[in-house]
Amino acid sequence: MTTKPAPTRSYLLPLLFLIGIAVAGALGTAGAVQGYLSGLRLQAAILEEEEEQNTANRLRASLLEAESALRGLMIYNQPSYIERFHQAAQHIESAEVRRLIQRIDSDPSTMGAPPVAGLIDRAVASRRSAVALLLEGHRERVIEHGSAGHANRVMDSIRETLDRYIEARRDSIAANTAELRRQQTLVLALVAGSAGISALGVLLAVLTLRGRVRATTVAQSELASRSAEMSALLQMNELLQACETRGDIERVAGHAAQALVPGMPSTLYIFSNSRDRLDRALNWPGPGPDHIAPSACWALKRGRPNLCGQGVACDSSGCSGTALCVPMAARGEVYGLLRFNSEDIPALDALRENRGADAMADGMSMALANLQLRDKLRGEALRDALTGLHNRRFLEEVGPTILRQGDRRQASTCIAVLDADHFKRVNDTFGHATGDALLRAIAGSMTSLLRASDICIRYGGEEFVILLPDCDLGGAFERLDMLRESIATMHAEGGALPVITVSIGVALVPPGAASLDDAMHQADEALYAAKRGGRNQVLTAPMAERVKALAAPDHPGG
Ligand code: GH3
Ligand code: MG
Ligand code: MG
Repeated sequence: MTTKPAPTRSYLLPLLFLIGIAVAGALGTAGAVQGYLSGLRLQAAILEEEEEQNTANRLRASLLEAESALRGLMIYNQPSYIERFHQAAQHIESAEVRRLIQRIDSDPSTMGAPPVAGLIDRAVASRRSAVALLLEGHRERVIEHGSAGHANRVMDSIRETLDRYIEARRDSIAANTAELRRQQTLVLALVAGSAGISALGVLLAVLTLRGRVRATTVAQSELASRSAEMSALLQMNELLQACETRGDIERVAGHAAQALVPGMPSTLYIFSNSRDRLDRALNWPGPGPDHIAPSACWALKRGRPNLCGQGVACDSSGCSGTALCVPMAARGEVYGLLRFNSEDIPALDALRENRGADAMADGMSMALANLQLRDKLRGEALRDALTGLHNRRFLEEVGPTILRQGDRRQASTCIAVLDADHFKRVNDTFGHATGDALLRAIAGSMTSLLRASDICIRYGGEEFVILLPDCDLGGAFERLDMLRESIATMHAEGGALPVITVSIGVALVPPGAASLDDAMHQADEALYAAKRGGRNQVLTAPMAERVKALAAPDHPGG
């Protein structure tokens, strides 16, 4: 399984980023509001300065007008100039101009200049008296007074101060206007920045949310497929417990493979008994060759799942195309190979990563191991531990089947009973271990001299039963006599073991016989006859009958 980062960690970074954006947005907005308010204040100041400038300009104009009217009256003596003079003088003496004059005198720009208030009052008063003299007809006096130049100097001084004040206002307006523009640009930048940051925040939030939703959806679908996988594996393991044969295991696992990865073809290979090759399971529908060599696949060579066909190339007789090969091992033994074929490398990789294929291979190899163990135990229960031959139970289980098979083939079957001669004496003379070794030697002679199809059984003690299928009595006699002779001579020439002989009774199993009992009884009778006849010999049941008849007292020849 892949390790995923803790959800808290995956949220932390976007959360910190969002907090940063919110703080930056808030600061930007606060700055913009402050800039806007300061801009408003600047605008008000500019308007006020402009108003001052206008009032000062109007005062300057009124002074000029009063002067012009006086001169006009003096030259042309027309009453209209009187009216113009009074209007100008009225404006100069208005409350608005009074307030302006106060500010002019207290303004830093007019520092050092004589106060305008006094000068204007004096100028207006002198012009008024000049007008009064003109109206009284004293034109000469007015001309005389005007040529003294005192009134003109006063006016020049007033004009100079006014100009300084107007100039200062203009400078101040220009400075404030520049500052206002700077503030406006700043506010605009802050507003745009805040809007951008907010948009970025919203975008990030949307992206994060979308990412989380997608991740949650992916996680949910992964969880669903994982749980389907788990239930397929659980069901498979449950069914595998009940499997009696390898075919059952193959069918159950083949079904589970389709449930685990629907639509992906898979193949199961199981080691042959000789373990020199792997055979394709026939009860499992899947592609691939019927046999593969263990050296053909890297998964088998490495002993762990391998994406064959990608990177390291497998032998062409092994994996053709890309495939995920999973070795099936249990109790230290590899039982086979589970192969998923697909061109979809990421799908194969995901299957390897989530270990579903591993779990399946494990379950199957465990079931195969159990089956093998069961077979082994069963085999052990049907075999004799000392000689390795089959035991009496085996004869009881398999005997009827052999009879049926013989009947089907219309072939005759013989049964022989073999007993070691004077075995008690051997034990008494050479010890039990020597006795055991002799029993093993007798068994070895039986398996090496008789046909592979002959079934040799240690019936009990020093007594053996041999089933000879596809064999008539004559053939059985020949073969068993050869065996007898071989046993009698095997330790004759000073071997480690003493000489041992055996007596054998053999009978033909009649065709259609339901059991071996009668034939076995006849073979037993023949054996006793052989014992009685001196041991180390083979007698067939008919021969034994004849011996018995000859030995009978009422026999014509006896
Ligand atoms: P006979 O020729 O009439 O068959 O004589 P015998 O001594 O072979 O027959 P008997 O039935 O008197 O004795 C059989 C002996 O086989 C007795 C027993 O101790 C011995 N025996 C049976 N099973 C084993 C075994 O597993 N190992 C050894 N060493 N001896 C065994
Ligand atoms: Mg015996
Ligand atoms: Mg015996």
